[in-house]
Amino acid sequence: MPKNNNIEAKLEEFRAKEAEDFAELMAQKYGIPYADLSRTTIDLDALKLVSQPDAEAGKMAVFQKTAKRLQVGVFNPTLPKAKEVVESLQRKGYQPELFLVSEPSLKRAWSRYSEISAFEEMTTGAIELSAARLEDAMVKVKTIADFQELIAPFSGGAKIKNVSEVLELILASALALDASDVHLEPQEKAVVVRLRLDGVLSEVATFTATAYALLLSRIKLTSEMKLNVKDRAQDGRFTLRTSQTQIEVRVSSLPGPYGETIVMRVLNPKTIALTLEDLGLHPELQAIVKKELKKPNGMILTTGPTGSGKTTTLYAFVKAVNEPGVKIITIEDPIEYHIPGISQTQVDAAKGYTFANGLRSILRQDPDTILVGEIRDLETAEIAMHAALTGHLVFSTLHTNSAAGTIPRLIDLKADPAIIAPAINITMAQRLVRKLCPHCKKETAPSADEKKLIEDALKKMPASYKKEVKAKSIRVWKASGCARCSAIGYKGRIGIFEAFLVDDAVEKLILAKPSEGDLREAMERQGMITMVQDGVLKVLRGLTSVDELVRVAGEDI
Ligand SMILES: [Zn+2]
Repeated sequence: MPKNNNIEAKLEEFRAKEAEDFAELMAQKYGIPYADLSRTTIDLDALKLVSQPDAEAGKMAVFQKTAKRLQVGVFNPTLPKAKEVVESLQRKGYQPELFLVSEPSLKRAWSRYSEISAFEEMTTGAIELSAARLEDAMVKVKTIADFQELIAPFSGGAKIKNVSEVLELILASALALDASDVHLEPQEKAVVVRLRLDGVLSEVATFTATAYALLLSRIKLTSEMKLNVKDRAQDGRFTLRTSQTQIEVRVSSLPGPYGETIVMRVLNPKTIALTLEDLGLHPELQAIVKKELKKPNGMILTTGPTGSGKTTTLYAFVKAVNEPGVKIITIEDPIEYHIPGISQTQVDAAKGYTFANGLRSILRQDPDTILVGEIRDLETAEIAMHAALTGHLVFSTLHTNSAAGTIPRLIDLKADPAIIAPAINITMAQRLVRKLCPHCKKETAPSADEKKLIEDALKKMPASYKKEVKAKSIRVWKASGCARCSAIGYKGRIGIFEAFLVDDAVEKLILAKPSEGDLREAMERQGMITMVQDGVLKVLRGLTSVDELVRVAGEDI
C-alpha cells in the first residue's frame, strides 16, 4: 500500500522535526547550545569514551573530540546519570561542552556503538600480531612465488576468517624477502600489493575491494590511526614482535580516487647490522674513514638523495665508535633503528624539539659523539659545526648529490666559510646499487658502450684503487633471474661511495667560496675516486651490472 507508506514517511519526518524543535526549546530553557546530531558527524573515538550502557542511562553521547575538548550531546542536562558521567569525564582531564540534542538523534548515535565494539575487540583482543604465526610464515616464504601462493586464497576476501592472519602473512613475507616497504594501492579494478625490494617496487599480489576493506581497517587499528578518517593523510606505527627481535613498522595512509593507499615501512634491524666493511666501502676508502672516525672532533657528512643509504652509513659510523666510555647522543627525524648503548632522541616540532633546539639540549649533556639526522637550515648547521670545533665528533647528512657539493650547499645556507673549513673533516656521497644474484648472474663481454664507460672511469682512476683491475680482459656480468632471487636477477644492495677530505689545501680553497667544479678538481688531486668509478670497480668484480650502475648513478656518468 504505497499511499500508507507515504503517510508513514511523512509522520516520521514530522516526529523527527518535532523532536528537533523540542530539543531547541529545551536548549533555550537550560541555556546551552542546541545541536542537530542527525546532521553531525559522530567521531567513534569520542563516542567510545563513554560506554553504551552509561550513555543510554544518561541519555547522552560524546560526539566530537579535539584533544581534551569534548562535545557532548545530552537530552536533559539535569539527569543525575548525565551529570555523573560528565563529572567523571572532567576527573579524567576532559573539558566536556554540553549540547542539547533530541532523543531520536541520540538513538542514531548509539547505534554506532556496534561499529566500535567490533573495533574494540580488534584493538584490545588481537592488536598483538602473533609471533608464532609470523615466524611460521617467514619460514615458508622464500620467494615472491611462495608469498603469492599463500596469499592467493585471501585475495577475494571470502576466505578471510581472521584478517590479522592476512596482515601477518604480508608482513612476514616482507621480512622474509627483505622488503623495505609494503604498498597497498587501490586502483580502478583491484587493490595492488607492491613490495619495495632492494629499492625497486614489484607488484606481487592483488586484493578485491572487499578483502582490502577488511585489511585496511585492521592496519589502521593496529597502527592506531582513526578508522573513520578517510579523507586525509594519517600516520601511525606498530611493533612486530618475534621471539628474536622487535621490528618497527611505520604506516601512512593517503586518500586516493579509489580509496585509501597504505604504505607500511618495515624497519628491519637486520638490514642495519652493518659494519664499515658491509657497507661496501673500498678498502682504500675504508682506511681513510677509519682514520677520520678515530679523531676526537670534527664533522663527517654523508650526502645523497633520499633512499641512498646515507642514514645506514651514519649508523655504521655510530656502531664503529660505540664503546663503553664514549657518550653518543643522536637527534633524528624519526629514529629509524634503535642501537643499544647510545641515547637516541627524536625531533618533535610540536614540542619545540627541532634539530636546532634538540642539538642545543644535547650539547648540555656533555656527549663525545653526536649524530644529527639532517642539516636542513643555517641554525642547525652552525650549532653542529660549532660542536665539531669544540671537541665533539659530529655525524650528519646533507641533501645534496656529491661529496664536493657539500661545501657549496653549506655556503648556500649562509654558513660562514671560515667556520666550515676547520669544522668539517670529510664529506661523503653515496648511492645504493642492487647486487647481482650470485646464483644466476651471467658473465659476458661488455658491449661497446659498456666498454667505453668502464675505460673512461678507469682512465682517471687513482692507481691505488685499480691495482686489482686487469684492463686487458674486461668482463662484466648481467642479471638473469632464478628462484633464489624471485626471477629479478638482483638480491640485496651495496653502496657506491666517494669522499672528499677537507685538508689544508681545501681549507684555503673553501675560504674563497669555491664552485663545485673547483672542489671536484681538488678531490681529484687528493687521489679520491668518484661514485661512478667505485661503481665501475664493483661492476668489474661482478657485484653489480652496468645497467644497474647507469640506473642509479646515470646522471653522474
Ligand atoms: Zn637469481
